[in-house]
Amino acid sequence: MLPKIFKFSKYLHSQIRFYSKLLPQPTRNIFPKYTGIFINNEWVKSESGSTFPTINPSNEEVICQIEEGKAEDINKAVKAAKKAFDINSPWRKMDACERGNLLQKLADLIERDRAYLASLETLDNGKPYSQSYNVDLGLTIKCYRYFAGWADKIHGKTIPLDGNFMCMTRREPVGICGQIIPWNFPLLMQAWKMGPALAAGNTLVLKPAELTSLSALHVAELTAEAGFPPGVINVVPGFGPTAGASLAQHPDVDKVAFTGSTEIGREILKYAGSNKDLKRVSLELGGKSPNIIFADCESIDKAVEQSHFALFFNMGQCCTAGSRTFVEEKIYDEFVSKSKTLALSLHDKMGDPFDLKTEHGPQINKEQADKILGFIKSGIDQGASLLTSNKNDYHKIPTQKGFYVKPAVFSDVLDGMDIAKEEIFGPVQQIIKFKNIDELYERANKTIYGLAAAVYTKDIDKAMMLAQIIRAGTIWINCYDIFDAAAPFGGFKQSGLGREKGEDGLYGYSETKTITIKIPQKIS
Ligand code: NAP
Ligand code: MG
Repeated sequence: MLPKIFKFSKYLHSQIRFYSKLLPQPTRNIFPKYTGIFINNEWVKSESGSTFPTINPSNEEVICQIEEGKAEDINKAVKAAKKAFDINSPWRKMDACERGNLLQKLADLIERDRAYLASLETLDNGKPYSQSYNVDLGLTIKCYRYFAGWADKIHGKTIPLDGNFMCMTRREPVGICGQIIPWNFPLLMQAWKMGPALAAGNTLVLKPAELTSLSALHVAELTAEAGFPPGVINVVPGFGPTAGASLAQHPDVDKVAFTGSTEIGREILKYAGSNKDLKRVSLELGGKSPNIIFADCESIDKAVEQSHFALFFNMGQCCTAGSRTFVEEKIYDEFVSKSKTLALSLHDKMGDPFDLKTEHGPQINKEQADKILGFIKSGIDQGASLLTSNKNDYHKIPTQKGFYVKPAVFSDVLDGMDIAKEEIFGPVQQIIKFKNIDELYERANKTIYGLAAAVYTKDIDKAMMLAQIIRAGTIWINCYDIFDAAAPFGGFKQSGLGREKGEDGLYGYSETKTITIKIPQKIS
């Protein structure tokens, strides 16, 4: 008998209503099978012989050792991807619909292994199993299926030109793609990168985050099982400054797609223009998204729940986290009090991420947990009110091992405080007061970031005014974190370059070629 889930709040339940309501039991004792470097559909050891440990964030124990890819392994992988992109290779000669079939097959295999992959993700990343299974796996499978559908629908145009010419465009693959992904949604970030790249006919080398390589390696094995030709997909685990940097700098890599911090994103841009090279680059970076609640929202209770979800989902480790909760003065006190109650209720649902009752797991590692605690301290020092613990014990985490941080809520937050400006990437909510819409035009945009924003109001005029004025790649109205493979996603300003998902995401993996034919005036 499958246990009934739903572990999160009522609101999140409705957010993920698309996904299964029944949850198979997780596999707790996994000894991961795939820990090598995946090149040419084969598992190889690192050239240097080095390995690195991957840690379970909920108990700080080593799960297993993984082969550590470095420059020489990246070279081998890029060579394989280059050969697979050769004009006479099976991949280049394959019909587009067959590429789509392979992506569908991959989605089927992920579906087959869904409970195992969800368990592996929970083991390596620490996120609650109910989230891994429902959200991460649900969106990952959908993403591969969505891009499978595109494979044979990548059309060019015919364009009227002056004179007697016929002009047409073709969308061709960019070539060899280097893809670097973070640890917060490992399987989903892999799908956002590999789905469109493969649908458009590219070959690729992917470097997972060193903290969460296991699920990407399992999917690599599934790509071989699905029947992708050798060399089309290569996965090299390793560290950012070695494996990541060599991939991003490799002269045979045509495009680099990166998700992670703005700081490293800037490095990637530099690499792309170095060595007399000019790579295509797409970047999905940080955020400090305004989440704006007007007094005329449909229901304060719902807005409180949605704002709680917008911030605390995935332990706050979301680039889109609604980390500046702007609340209209008239409802501020009520909103703050209800947000505090909700966050405190999450304290009781922290624990073993494999427990189906757990809603809040550990942060990814000690470095991130310490960084978050530092921000909490700065909030207290700079005069904001911490509502969810005594200001002397805010740092106390459960006695069990693991990188747990208690969900925290601050009120009386001012725009200039560090907690209102910096990306915290953790479970810390900032509730900020505003008086009227006019001041929001400036305050909402007063950030180096521009990833997402949300507005809660029943007044369509206000919602649309803000949707137009806020400089962000995604605007949600009366909802938050609605992710669908069909909707383009990316940042304005320092939140990124280019778009992922949807038609825009697909075209980021193609080059437009213009072909112009002279038509004779008369047939001789
Ligand atoms: P990060 O350093 O930007 O890492 C993201 C990816 O880039 C990882 O695969 C990383 O490898 C790789 N990388 C690191 N240095 C590199 C380099 N010089 N050249 C090429 N690749 C490189 O992010 P992080 O250290 O994991 O987290 C730091 C902060 O970034 C977080 O606190 C958060 O604010 C932000 N972040 C944002 C997102 C997002 O979705 N936008 C996701 C994660 C983190 P290794 O991890 O293997 O070293
Ligand atoms: Mg890093």
